[in-house]
Amino acid sequence: MPFYAGRTMNTPAEVPDGVVAVVRKLLPDNDLGAALAKQLPYARVASGCRCGCATVDLVVDRSAVGPAPQEPGNPVVGEGSIRGVDGQTVGGVILFAGGGYLSCLEVYSFGDEPIAELPDPAVVDP
Ligand SMILES: [Zn+2]
Repeated sequence: MPFYAGRTMNTPAEVPDGVVAVVRKLLPDNDLGAALAKQLPYARVASGCRCGCATVDLVVDRSAVGPAPQEPGNPVVGEGSIRGVDGQTVGGVILFAGGGYLSCLEVYSFGDEPIAELPDPAVVDP
C-alpha cells in the first residue's frame, strides 16, 4: 500500500516516481499535456484515498508554474486501463486536473478489492 493511502499529509510529500511515470503515460499529446507535464516537478502529494486504494490527490505550487490550457467543465485530462497478469483489464486510471492544475490520479478496480498498489506504467494502456 502506498505511504499516502488513507492519509492527509501534514506536509505535502514528494510525488513517488511511479506516480510520475503513470501520469506521464496518461498526459495527452498536445498543449494541455505539455503544460501539465511542466507542473510535475512542482507537484506534491496532498492526500490519499480513505478506502486504501492507490488513488492520490496532488497539489501544485501555483507560484512556481502557470496553469495549463484546460477546457472548463472537463476535469478528466487522461485515462487508461490496467492490464492484469493474464492480460485482462482489472481496472483503470483517470488523471484529473482542476483550474489548469494537476489534481488527482484515480486508480479504480473492476474487482471487489481496491487496487492498493500503483500499477506499473508498462501495464497501463492509455
Ligand atoms: Zn480508494
